[in-house]
Amino acid sequence: MRKLIQAESTAEKGELAVAEIIWQELGRSGIDARIDTWGQNRANLVVHIKSPEHKAGLLFACHLDVVPPGEASWKYPAFEGVESDGKIHGRGSADMKGGIVAILTAIRQIVEAGTKLEGDIILIAAAGEETDSCGAKRFITSYKDKLPALAGVVIPEPTNFEIVTAHRGILWLEVATKGKAAHGSTPQLGVNAITSMKAVLDELENYKIVFEPHELLGGCSMSINTIAGGKAMNVVPDKCSIGIDIRTVPGQNHQDIIEDLQKMFAKLKQKNPQFDAEVSVVREVGALETDSNCDFVKDFCSVVGIGQTKAVGFTTDGPHFAALGAPVVIFGPGKSEVCHKPDEYIEISDVKKAVEYYKNIILRFLS
Ligand SMILES: [Zn+2]
Repeated sequence: MRKLIQAESTAEKGELAVAEIIWQELGRSGIDARIDTWGQNRANLVVHIKSPEHKAGLLFACHLDVVPPGEASWKYPAFEGVESDGKIHGRGSADMKGGIVAILTAIRQIVEAGTKLEGDIILIAAAGEETDSCGAKRFITSYKDKLPALAGVVIPEPTNFEIVTAHRGILWLEVATKGKAAHGSTPQLGVNAITSMKAVLDELENYKIVFEPHELLGGCSMSINTIAGGKAMNVVPDKCSIGIDIRTVPGQNHQDIIEDLQKMFAKLKQKNPQFDAEVSVVREVGALETDSNCDFVKDFCSVVGIGQTKAVGFTTDGPHFAALGAPVVIFGPGKSEVCHKPDEYIEISDVKKAVEYYKNIILRFLS
C-alpha cells in the first residue's frame, strides 16, 4: 500500500509506475497481469483469471490515478504513505488504493488457496478516472470482445461499505468567445471577446436545463466555475472563456444541453453579427443508475448484509462499465469525505474488512 501511494500516480506523472508495482506483486502469487501502456507514462492494468466453467463472471473496476495533493499543507507528506494510529495517510489512500489493495488481496488469497471458481474474475485498474476516463474507455474498446458474460461489475471506490447504485453524471463545458484584438485606445477597431462573454453570461443567467427530478439524486445543477480572458490592460481581448460544471441525472441527454447552448449562440449572432462563440466538452460521464431490485444487487446486498442501496454525490467510471450491459455496484473501504482533500487517509482495519467482503462476493457469485 505504501509503495502504491509513493508511486504518485497523478495525471502529471502517469499510472505506469504504480501498474508495474502491482504487476510485480501479483507475479509473486503466480497471477498474470497485463499492462497496457500508451503515451509517455499512461497505463491500465488488467488481470483476467479464467475458469474452465462458464458461469457469468465478475468484473472489478478500479482506477490507478489520483488527484494532485493541492496547495494546502498536509500533516503527513502526501506521497509517503505514513502509517500511524491504525491509518495509512496519503493521496490516494482512500481514493482508491485501499480498494485496490483489498480486491487484489482477496483475489490472491483465493488463487493461493486453490479455490475452484466457476466463472472468470476480471480486474481492470484504469488510468485517468479523475480526468477524462481515458483508461476505462480504452479498456472497454480493446477488451470488450475478450470479456465473458458478466454477472455484475463491482467498483471498489470508497463508500464506507455502503452499497451505491446511483450517482449523477458530469458534463464539463468550456465556452469560448472569439473577438478581434486591437489597441486599447482604439476599441472600435476590435471586437471585445469579454463583452461577447457578458452576453453569454446574461443568457445563461436565465437558462434552465430541462430534466425530470430523480427520486434519489434530486435535480440537475449548473455552475459557472472558471473565467479567463484578456492579456493586457491596453489590448482589446480576442478571447474569453468560461468553464461550466453541469451535473446531470439519469434520463438526461448531454447532447441536448450542448445544442441549447449552440442555439443560444446563434440567437446572439443574429442580434450582433460580430458575436462568435463555441462550446466544447472538457469532460463527460453519464449518470449511473443500477436497478436496485435486480438479482445481482439483491444477492450483493445479502452477501454484505445490508438491505439498502444508496445514491452519492461523486461520480465514477461506473457509467462506462454499465455500457457493457451488466449491473454496476460501487462498494469499498474508506470514507468519501476524506477524498480530494489534504490529509486523506484510510483505516487499515477497513482495508482488511474489505478483503473479507470481496472474498465473500467472489465466492457467492463464482462458486
Ligand atoms: Zn476514485
